[in-house]
Amino acid sequence: MNNNLIEFVLKITIVPIIIIIAFVLISDTHYKTKYNNGICHCGGHLIYQEAVGHRNTTSYIFKCDECGEMSEYNSRIIKDCKIYYEEDINTET
Ligand SMILES: [Zn+2]
Repeated sequence: MNNNLIEFVLKITIVPIIIIIAFVLISDTHYKTKYNNGICHCGGHLIYQEAVGHRNTTSYIFKCDECGEMSEYNSRIIKDCKIYYEEDINTET
């Protein structure tokens, strides 16, 4: 294999991988900001509702206890974040 061909193969494989990783990181950051550690933009709590299995990942459905807005986050987003459950809110008040 000559060097130009190796370079070409690297370009067509590595560049898309980098783009995909960058995209995933950017969208994760976006959703992490949106999740806001379980606090809705209205100030309510995002209450865990259910898990939905997709082909490769699992999504978690949350519903705000103030405005009722539903949102969906994957496991990467909520991994290190606070998760509110219905019971937590009921015992808190
Ligand atoms: Zn809300």
